[in-house]
Amino acid sequence: MKKYGKGFALKTVKITRRTFIKGVGAVTVTSSLGMSGALRGDTRRAKATEADESVKYIHSCCTVNCTSRCHLKGHVKNGRIVAVTPGLLPGRDDYPNACLRSMSYAQRLQDPTQRVLYPMKRVGERGEGKFKQISWDEAFELIASKLLETKEKHGAHAASFFTMSGNLAKLAWESTTRLGATFGGTTYITEGLMGDHGASMGMNLVFGQARGGHDTRDYMNSKLIILWGRNIADTHTSEMRYIIKARENGAKVIVIDPRQCSSAAVADQWIPIRPQTDPALALGMMNYMISRDLHDKAWLKANSCGPLLVREDDGQYLRVNDGYAVWDEKTKRVVPAGTADAEPALTGEYVTAEGVKCHPAFVDLAKEAAKYTIPVTAEICGLEEAMVEQLAYEYATMKPAGIRMGQGMQRVYNSFAPFRTVATLAAVAGYIGISGGGASHMGGTASINPIPGVTVPDFNFAEWSNTGGAPFIEKNSSQLYNMIENEEVKFLWIGVSNFINQSPDANRVIGEILPKVPFIVNVDPFWTWTTKYADLVLPGKTHWEVWDILVRSPWVMVDQPAIETMGESKSDCEICSEVAKRVGLGHLWNKTDEEWIRSFMTSEHPAFADFDWDTWVKEGIFARPDGIYDAVFAFEDQKYKTPTGKFEFYTERLKKYGQEVPAYTRMLEDPQGELGKKYPLVCINYHDRVNVHTQQMLYPALKIVASEPEIQINTVDAEARGIKHGDIVKVFNDRGYCMIKAFVMEGIAPGITAIPNGWTPDQYIEGNMQNLTHFTINPVEEFISQTNSAFYDVLVEVEKV
Ligand code: SF4
Repeated sequence: MKKYGKGFALKTVKITRRTFIKGVGAVTVTSSLGMSGALRGDTRRAKATEADESVKYIHSCCTVNCTSRCHLKGHVKNGRIVAVTPGLLPGRDDYPNACLRSMSYAQRLQDPTQRVLYPMKRVGERGEGKFKQISWDEAFELIASKLLETKEKHGAHAASFFTMSGNLAKLAWESTTRLGATFGGTTYITEGLMGDHGASMGMNLVFGQARGGHDTRDYMNSKLIILWGRNIADTHTSEMRYIIKARENGAKVIVIDPRQCSSAAVADQWIPIRPQTDPALALGMMNYMISRDLHDKAWLKANSCGPLLVREDDGQYLRVNDGYAVWDEKTKRVVPAGTADAEPALTGEYVTAEGVKCHPAFVDLAKEAAKYTIPVTAEICGLEEAMVEQLAYEYATMKPAGIRMGQGMQRVYNSFAPFRTVATLAAVAGYIGISGGGASHMGGTASINPIPGVTVPDFNFAEWSNTGGAPFIEKNSSQLYNMIENEEVKFLWIGVSNFINQSPDANRVIGEILPKVPFIVNVDPFWTWTTKYADLVLPGKTHWEVWDILVRSPWVMVDQPAIETMGESKSDCEICSEVAKRVGLGHLWNKTDEEWIRSFMTSEHPAFADFDWDTWVKEGIFARPDGIYDAVFAFEDQKYKTPTGKFEFYTERLKKYGQEVPAYTRMLEDPQGELGKKYPLVCINYHDRVNVHTQQMLYPALKIVASEPEIQINTVDAEARGIKHGDIVKVFNDRGYCMIKAFVMEGIAPGITAIPNGWTPDQYIEGNMQNLTHFTINPVEEFISQTNSAFYDVLVEVEKV
């Protein structure tokens, strides 16, 4: 009888092979019924349209923030989309993709009951949902007068323009921010509040850039693949086929996740880690390798900051001739880093000729890792010691091993630590910049630039980028709550964002923050939780209704109007242009959306020599001749944009916070601390298969898969509370509560609960998951860049209603 995690053993639950398989089966069957049933329906519809000569085919690119950016083919009849199928991806016959979400999206965007159809002015209290229809002229005049009044009384900076990631097409995504910039207002770097910035910070610390990864096809070269906090099967469907292929090719696939997610269900092994303990697991694995001499010393010496000397007096790198220094084992003296023929030391303690005590940076990493013996690591992570040891051994010896990191592990306090530490683990193993290896963030798709997912734009964006010289301010989104509470925001424009639904601590937002904003404009194609709290709601358009452009290297895709306009909706760019004209900025907003797109595509770059507008619009995609279509991976050249120019696990500027090397810190809301006595269950949220954030879901096709949010809770925790599968439960803490059905399962570790992200209050029995979350400024993250929402650092209690 095999135990799968210490957490289970502590609760005296035996996870037998039978119950484990039962859990796997539950996930797989749900997936198969939901997805394939709907797909079969769509395939039938698509086939039927092929014989219908009145059907036109109009292409688009899916713009939601799952980052796959799939090329879609719309089957359009009488001004309505009747089916959606995957569009071709020239040069990659294996890669076309469309998921159930995008294939059924037309059901929502063509449903007038879900759409905002006209400009609507609030007539009831905020939140009441009472609006009256007004004309576009009235709406534009109202906005213009509020903007000019704000500027006159408080300065232009008092007008804030806030976006998230509701539409990643260029015009839609950037128009709100561009309007703010041209007006001289305040714009925001949104990653922090929306909870994606921990990954960027972690990556930047060690790699010197926020993104970088391996094309998923490169996993065909891996012996072991670890999906660490990444549920590709549900959240990046275009890539899952390659993970399956790699497994068929002989690679072992391991999923590290507190939940037995869909990817875990088809993997070889699921490691049910406790939330926020990923850095401890990575440090434990490092210690295992270092203490057994399994680490890649040659790679560390050549490519990492490991041999660079650190002063013992102040923890800063030792400088020689304004450069970094190493201890040369051959000459037994300090020499500048990079000295030819030197043999840099990775361990030891040394004294310079000037009497400065110092040691290689690797010593500090090894010392930190040494705290995480197998028993300590297992205890922290809630895993069995044998499981940790086996994982560390296999990772070190199944060469090469690739890790795909997911945002799931970085929505925690000290959010930079998971990506930083897991990437450092890969470096200690010598897997960075190695085919089949890596610690990937994003990636997955081939690119023009040899770093998957990163694009070199050589479009003609100059005019769009010209904001006219107004002295606008760009703030971190982590400052938004404080700024509003300090009454620095007198006007708030929210674009491409269901802000309340996707921001932490909804009760605080609704009760304390938004009431301090005198005027709120919200542009959205759909009625949302946020629209209810706006003073003016403007009907936006979806990607099937506008001209727009998306770059998914090596392809350039076009969005174009495919259906008749719903009500009086307008694109974000059209709305911003009309407002701009009324506040004296018409000269910067003097093009239609189509004219902007045409202007972008007049690049002199040779790659566009054969570009033809009509062909592009007809096919919906332009395959750049200079694009890379082969499987590539980042850091093959071992060049890093860090201060040391090396893979940098030792960050001297973090010495003052005691985090100069990757470290594990306990949760802010610690289940083993005082708060844990009152609220003993950790509540994480996750991205599931029926929605990307607050988009999609609730179409007939998707309701087959899921029609309401449910809280996943372990059998042990449910039994202790008298909760049965399907019971309505109240989930609560001091900040608020939600009521929701219980999904009792063995596929989640005891002590952990999970609620799917994106569902809105209308779909809960009462409340919302964001009533439970908090936003706590983190001084270290503010020092590095900005605080990331710790959506998963939340304690709750659950009781049967
Ligand atoms: S939601 Fe679906 S279709 Fe859209 S980009 Fe993501 S995987 Fe592709």
